[in-house]
Amino acid sequence: PVELKSHGPARVIAMCNQKGGVGKTTSTINLGAALAEYGRKVLLVDFDPQGALSVGLGIRAHELDTTVYNLLVSREDDIHDVIQPTATDNLDVLPANIDLSAAEVQLVGEVAREMVLARVLRPVLDEYDVILIDCQPSLGLLTVNALTAAHGVVIPLECEFFAMRGVALLVETIDKVTDRLNPRLEVDGILATMYDGRTLHSRDVIRSVVAHFDDKVLHTVISRTVKFPDASLAAEPITTYASTHGAAESYRQLARELVARGAVA
Ligand code: ADP
Ligand code: MG
Repeated sequence: PVELKSHGPARVIAMCNQKGGVGKTTSTINLGAALAEYGRKVLLVDFDPQGALSVGLGIRAHELDTTVYNLLVSREDDIHDVIQPTATDNLDVLPANIDLSAAEVQLVGEVAREMVLARVLRPVLDEYDVILIDCQPSLGLLTVNALTAAHGVVIPLECEFFAMRGVALLVETIDKVTDRLNPRLEVDGILATMYDGRTLHSRDVIRSVVAHFDDKVLHTVISRTVKFPDASLAAEPITTYASTHGAAESYRQLARELVARGAVA
């Protein structure tokens, strides 16, 4: 991708699928790291109380007193003080930990409770080129907040039997948010993950996903490899942990594809 001469305003992308274990967090970290390598200024928002994104980038999230949770429920803290740098240039994290699990209940009584994350991110929109939100595996209020703050959605979809189950409900939720809260929201693409070319069913799953979603399916496919869990244990993106491995290259390809599609500057 061409170098950027100036930075911002950020395009916000929610990485979303209410099924767990489909590669949301892995894709958020590694797409973010690949875009950062290409000189984009990237903020990753950990929006799952499990805090896997924060921990996967070496942040001791459980020890933090202020996280995205505090920004959601009060106006006391400045987001700039909560954002943490990572070992990768151009790659910052807005961390989360288990505190975030209380937010859903606390926000229910708020005015415009679906728009709280959008308000939280507003002060840094001009400081980044892209903000990726790692959603939790549910379609609850936190995920609706992510979809309301976003310009686009990327849906990681595991190449497994029954992967399509639940996607209809996700698409329905995206449609409702588009209709009622955030008319600019677009589906940027469906990302096939955990692909195993040796199995017939991985290929069958891709074929049925393409039959159903057509050009919404991204050309980049992420293969299944132990390098990903290894990298997350090492608390590093794949792009530095195994820089020359095909797994790193696939997220670079995804970054280039999203730039080419106009989903990222
Ligand atoms: P989610 O955030 O959707 O729950 P994760 O990104 O945490 O999913 O992935 C779930 C587990 O699968 C993690 O242990 C992760 O390291 C592993 N994983 C993710 N992507 C791949 C892949 N392409 N190949 C092999 N393992 C993967
Ligand atoms: Mg996750």
